Amino acid sequence: MYSGSRRPHDLVGLTSISRDSFRIVSNGRTLETMNRGQAFREAHLGAVLLHQGEQYLVDSMDLSHGIIRVSPSEVDYYTRPLKSVDITVRQVRESRLVGDFTLTFGDVEVSEQYYAYKIIRNDAILGIEPLELPPLVFSTKSVWFTPPDDLEKNLHLAGADPDGGLHGTEHALIAMMPFHVLCDRWDLGGLSVPAHPATGGPAVFVYDGIEGGIGLSEKAYSIFEDLIHHTAALVRECPCEEGCPACIYSPKCGNDNQPLDKKGTALILEALSRACGGDFSVKTMEN
Ligand SMILES: [Zn+2]
Ligand SMILES: [Zn+2]
Repeated sequence: MYSGSRRPHDLVGLTSISRDSFRIVSNGRTLETMNRGQAFREAHLGAVLLHQGEQYLVDSMDLSHGIIRVSPSEVDYYTRPLKSVDITVRQVRESRLVGDFTLTFGDVEVSEQYYAYKIIRNDAILGIEPLELPPLVFSTKSVWFTPPDDLEKNLHLAGADPDGGLHGTEHALIAMMPFHVLCDRWDLGGLSVPAHPATGGPAVFVYDGIEGGIGLSEKAYSIFEDLIHHTAALVRECPCEEGCPACIYSPKCGNDNQPLDKKGTALILEALSRACGGDFSVKTMEN
């Protein structure tokens, strides 16, 4: 039973859906359609696009008509987009203390700007090309936490990088969330910053990457303690030295996985885990 105060059909614009749908066209044939977010990420001008095992190069992108023209290609490189993210907090819905961390859930406006893409062959960067795309701006829901004031100092004292630690924590949370909240990691976005206007200090945001939100960050807010214990275990038990795709490296990082610091990530997650009432480091040593 719908219980909203507005007529639901006013909230869903068919014109915006069609406008936000992009057709991928090769030699007059439509290969597939993509929503705006996916098109900006995977089918921007110059991108190497894989479709059913075949490789295509994007020749043009017509934003006003939603048509992306591609041609079959056999280049020996691939492309990776780079993006920046901005978050404005619109409304705090819930907030609580988790130990000395502040955890918040609320409405945010996200602006994702794809500004360039990398051309990569065998892990070597051949070049970086600029992109001229409008920002993707959407309202959604987010969960975010702010660490206590002394965390940054403690990380420095331990020889860890706070910014790389916050960024690694964001990635690890996003990697772990699909196991606790029914979703794919591509449904989620994140941002970690040393200072955010909404918190007056460092903050790590994880948001629903879909206009309006689909309940993912809200669920994460309610099961945060559980999520943290498992995320801390993921990072602690990963045998890598400096971070790897199984723990803190993200295939979808718009910042090209920089900066990342595994030690800083582990320390932040340990502090969070303790704040959540867990002492998992002791348990691991007993095993
Ligand atoms: Zn690892
Ligand atoms: Zn990242």
